Amino acid sequence: MKAEPAVQRRLLDLGEVDAELVRLAHRRRTLPEHAALTAAEAAVRTAKDALVDVETRAGDLDRDIRRLERDVDAVRARTERDQKILAGAGVGAKQASDLQHELDTLARRQGVLEDEQLEIMEQREAVGMDIAHAERVLAEAEHEQRTIAERRDAALRDIDAGDAGRRRAREELVATLPAELLAEYDRRRARGGTGAALLRERRCGACRLELDRTALSALRAAPPDEVVHCEECGVVLVRTPESGL
Ligand SMILES: [Zn+2]
Repeated sequence: MKAEPAVQRRLLDLGEVDAELVRLAHRRRTLPEHAALTAAEAAVRTAKDALVDVETRAGDLDRDIRRLERDVDAVRARTERDQKILAGAGVGAKQASDLQHELDTLARRQGVLEDEQLEIMEQREAVGMDIAHAERVLAEAEHEQRTIAERRDAALRDIDAGDAGRRRAREELVATLPAELLAEYDRRRARGGTGAALLRERRCGACRLELDRTALSALRAAPPDEVVHCEECGVVLVRTPESGL
């Protein structure tokens, strides 16, 4: 295959553009924000679960508080009723003694219920603080998640812009290359990731191996417009004055 040395050198520009496209694709896949975002999403889920837990506990306690209020109301109502009967006319000694006995029991019961109420109110207050704390933790986790998502999106926009620029440069370069040479470059690239490399100081720029005497004299003998390859890795070797031939 033949191609003017200047045209061959354009393969090196194409190689740089392609390498940059590979680097951008790698950067896109390995952005640290991907892992950070996964961790932030997990933190948000954990914070939501924690909030649901304390809200459930608060709901249970609220229900207990309402039950106790109903119980206390019932005891008070019963006490008032007994006191009214006791204060009324025509209460016999036996009935008065029974009523007094019940009033004592009701008073003890009310004391127990009120102690229980106090304890549950204290618990409810503590859970209220737990809720406020869980809400703060969740808000912080969500803020962190949004911040990381924004950072990731900005990084992706950067990569997209770089990628679009390289693709335009590639199209422009490709338009200046003979189809046959480009096909050769693409074939080599498909095999090893590199299509063309500079021969510099007798070394292949792709596999970095130094060419032996025989290979070097073959390259020296080849006309400048002859397209030559690295014997080791097969890329198109571009010869320039730096090649050491
Ligand atoms: Zn090579």
